[in-house]
Amino acid sequence: MGFAAPPTAAPSPVPILVYHRFADRALDSMTVRSSLFAQHLATLQTLGAQPIPLSQWLAYRRGELSQLPERAVVLSADDGHLSQFQVMAPLLQEASQRTARAWPISLFIYPSAISKVSYAMTWAQLRTLSRIEGFSLQSHSYWHPHFIQERRRLDAAAFDRFARQQLLRSRELLQERLGMAVDQLAWPFGLSDPGLQALAQELGYQIALGLGQSAATLQSPLFDVPRYLALDSLSPEQLAHWLRAAFAPGQAPGPSGPLGPSPS
Ligand SMILES: [Zn+2]
Repeated sequence: MGFAAPPTAAPSPVPILVYHRFADRALDSMTVRSSLFAQHLATLQTLGAQPIPLSQWLAYRRGELSQLPERAVVLSADDGHLSQFQVMAPLLQEASQRTARAWPISLFIYPSAISKVSYAMTWAQLRTLSRIEGFSLQSHSYWHPHFIQERRRLDAAAFDRFARQQLLRSRELLQERLGMAVDQLAWPFGLSDPGLQALAQELGYQIALGLGQSAATLQSPLFDVPRYLALDSLSPEQLAHWLRAAFAPGQAPGPSGPLGPSPS
């Protein structure tokens, strides 16, 4: 450390955001107003945040990449709501055109709803999104169960069969229908336990995301990576606060301690 440390030695925490639904007017806490989402994207741009694919953070977390772009963030959206196609994707594409680079995002889908319920996207819409540069469609289980309640309700063998089916069927369908490799998982409701995390790993998932009020770091558990829940109550100022806290070099945890060199 000190003079010997390369300037990139201090690992930066990476905020991972998760969105759900969008609408023009206020509906409920999980539905972010379109105008507010546009402000969130403007806040990211103003602070110089660089959205990176989750796969890039994963490579960094595993030590396959020695560094990330400065001010990296990861965007994600769960549940496959129709408004992700109608509102979110167009605003991300506008941001992409404005900044002349891709704005990657991982969309976590539970396939039981796709092309079946009116509030969810169709397979055709998902295929359209899958062709946008940086858009990755990934698994959110098959029907979005509350795994913790199911574990209490079922005996151990039945729960094991149930959980395997939820994690495998989702991946198989998404891969078959969209022709993309699926190796990322987001836990329904952000809920998992050590047994589920081990199962996801055993079944070949590379990473699983949960929820938590912190940015992802090299110490984050790979099968329960925290994500900030982006609600309609998330003001641009609060978002900027989270981003600045992660980007500030003095905040970076790690073996070299909190006192790092000034950014150059
Ligand atoms: Zn969900």
